[in-house]
Amino acid sequence: MLRYLIAFLFLVQAGTAQAVTQAEVMAGSAKLYRGQIDELRKGRLDDDERFGARVAALARPLIEQAKREFPESAAWDWELHTTTDGDANAFAMAGGKLLVSRAYVDELALSDAELAMLLAHEIMHAVLRHNLKEFEEALRLEPGRATQPFAEFEHDIDNDNALMRKLAGFNQQQELEADREGLLFAARAGWPPQALAAYFRKLAKHSHSANFARFDHPSPASRWHAARELAAQMEASR
Ligand SMILES: [Zn+2]
Repeated sequence: MLRYLIAFLFLVQAGTAQAVTQAEVMAGSAKLYRGQIDELRKGRLDDDERFGARVAALARPLIEQAKREFPESAAWDWELHTTTDGDANAFAMAGGKLLVSRAYVDELALSDAELAMLLAHEIMHAVLRHNLKEFEEALRLEPGRATQPFAEFEHDIDNDNALMRKLAGFNQQQELEADREGLLFAARAGWPPQALAAYFRKLAKHSHSANFARFDHPSPASRWHAARELAAQMEASR
């Protein structure tokens, strides 16, 4: 009897651990994205036409490729915006919601290949469902959150220091995955691997503490090292 009870509890546990769904995460991301876009709309949204056109020209073929390679994403309502707001840099949310800041691209003086690498990295976060996986990892670490309202859970994942600290290692792995898969993905789009990897050289050069991992990002130096190695392997096997 006890054995059945334990098995039953495991099933309940497994059931609650899947309490967060991709649809829920995408709806949450869409709302957060809308909030940020509406804020920027007061004057800083898509406010540099030339920059917007440059980003769109680079992003469009990558998004089309993502739709082919990750069929789930073909049904998404992809959105791409730019801003000159210096507080934003670049991000992708669940469901293909992208924002790229000109201030960030200017600061690093990114070439087209390097900007494609940045976009590919962000697109990988979306298509690899990194937001959803982060929620699932948080539920694994703190199963009690299964009963928390989703909006609160979503807030905590980006603001609760104790939870964020627990997730830091997991987030670093996701960054490395987005780097690696993004480089492979952009290379399939035709960009030379070494030119893509150069993005990480600039990131490391412009970082104030290139050898130190930030809260949830691996150190820029280690990302540059990994990208350089991968690009060299890819060029050697051509
Ligand atoms: Zn990232």
